[in-house]
Amino acid sequence: MRRISIFGATGSIGQNTIDLIARAPDAYRVVALTGGQNIAQLARDARRLKAEIAVTADETLLDALRDALADSGVEAAAGRAALVEAATRPADWVMSAIVGAAGLEPGLRALEQGADLALANKESMVCAGPLMLRTARAHGGRLLPVDSEHSAVFQALIGEDLSAVERVIITASGGAFRDWPLEDLEKATPEQAATHPNWDMGQRITIDSASMFNKALELIETREFFGIDPAMIETVVHPESMIHALVGFNDGALMAHVGPPDMRHAIGFALHYPDRQTLPVERLDLVKLGQLTFRPACETRWPALRLAREVMQAGGLMGAVFNAAKEEALTAFIARQITFPRMAGIVEDVLTRLSSHAGHNVDAITLDMVAEVDHLARVAARTVITGQA
Ligand code: NAD
Ligand code: MG
Repeated sequence: MRRISIFGATGSIGQNTIDLIARAPDAYRVVALTGGQNIAQLARDARRLKAEIAVTADETLLDALRDALADSGVEAAAGRAALVEAATRPADWVMSAIVGAAGLEPGLRALEQGADLALANKESMVCAGPLMLRTARAHGGRLLPVDSEHSAVFQALIGEDLSAVERVIITASGGAFRDWPLEDLEKATPEQAATHPNWDMGQRITIDSASMFNKALELIETREFFGIDPAMIETVVHPESMIHALVGFNDGALMAHVGPPDMRHAIGFALHYPDRQTLPVERLDLVKLGQLTFRPACETRWPALRLAREVMQAGGLMGAVFNAAKEEALTAFIARQITFPRMAGIVEDVLTRLSSHAGHNVDAITLDMVAEVDHLARVAARTVITGQA
């Protein structure tokens, strides 16, 4: 039986992962499930899957979790230290699906004990790509992309020589506001931004899809994951979200990955890699689909895309600066402290203030260095947001 842990089990990716695991209960032994405030869901899944331990990130909810798990035989724990401890428990395959930079350390700890890490948490690669790759290599675990675009690129590259790759095209749905007049964005609410035309995802990534900060993170993730030169990475708006990414080779061939917008494909691919197994995803009827459309990804509408290029150019720890500033700006938008278009301005301002973190020797970066820069960027972002600068 394969030992499985799921970090961020109560979220959108976590629940899709559980959907797949629960279909083959005899194939897996669940070690750890973690969540946040949704104790009922966490306890229900931990009981159902007979997990060894359930952890809530919220220390104040330990008693609630203990009560919910009474007489179940599942261990209950709470807080950041418990989360990290759970990641050190031996497992064969670990899903990293916490949202934000908070997912970095548990994923790293899982890699350190030699697990294969299925990486939905794109922030890990944006903040500390070289550290993730180095840790996986050192301990023999595989790093498997779960972001649909990166799973698509990964699959298109199987059996190929990276030196024959000419370009990588990452598609973007365009999110909730792709057809809005630019001047209306000032009035956009968090609720409007959190409605995705195609994908059903967590609130934060859905708003990041509307601003294209999600795509910006994914461009950096592509660079880090596959070592692709930033000049070879393109974005195109593809409203139907059926083609997830394309890889172009030096003979002109473009290999596209096509499938319905259902994360269980990418999760299942990472779960069964290197095999392919039957997955419960819809089979596309191309005739019914009729046509697929594409539009340019306008950097005036989505300045996050330009910022991502600047971050890739700057290198060093600027990915961690970018992500932390974005997380703070997003939190402020959700709290209605700033307007939707203001998020990009705040991130740009923080990138300028912390530009000295560019160009470090990235091979030598450590978790402490990333944590320090993350902290500095959050402080700077809050200073800009509250206008104290
Ligand atoms: P979500 O908001 O639905 O779930 C997030 C999970 O993380 C929950 O279990 C929550 O309790 C937990 N969590 C949140 N903050 C935490 C903290 N500080 N410490 C510990 N746990 C915490 O998010 P999601 O949509 O499932 O996305 C998870 C990750 O996967 C993100 O990095 C996202 O970018 C990535 N991703 C998601 C999708 C998708 O379809 N949802 C697709 C590609 C990539
Ligand atoms: Mg994606």
